[in-house]
Amino acid sequence: MIKPLILVVEDNELNLRLYYTILQSKGYRVNNARDGVTGVAVVKATLPDLVVMDIQLPKMDGLTATRIIKEEPSTAGIPVVIVTSYAMQEDREKGLQWGCDCYLTKPVNYKEFLEVIDNLLYRSKANNRLKEVR
Ligand code: MN
Repeated sequence: MIKPLILVVEDNELNLRLYYTILQSKGYRVNNARDGVTGVAVVKATLPDLVVMDIQLPKMDGLTATRIIKEEPSTAGIPVVIVTSYAMQEDREKGLQWGCDCYLTKPVNYKEFLEVIDNLLYRSKANNRLKEVR
């Protein structure tokens, strides 16, 4: 069985390495983009199973990138988890309003992080099965 592919959009090298360690420990395949513009392009080109999105990114912020992913029909169904140190309520509301599926704040609780990802992957897999039946 092919393992789920997760795209991490993150400009901080240390955070990126941590995500790789955690996600690969669960057997997930991991890809990355270092800025919002590339993130959106890679999502469209590779259709990952889930996206982990930072907010403060070069070229395009993660909220805008999330909105674009959710507005595009071919990528709208891909779960997006925003992980940010920007713990401002306004951003949280904007993130949820613009379609992110979950909003976590740094420092990440790794157990919670993996639980959220497992749940979203399971849910979107179930949705896809429903679509196939219809
Ligand atoms: Mn950043």
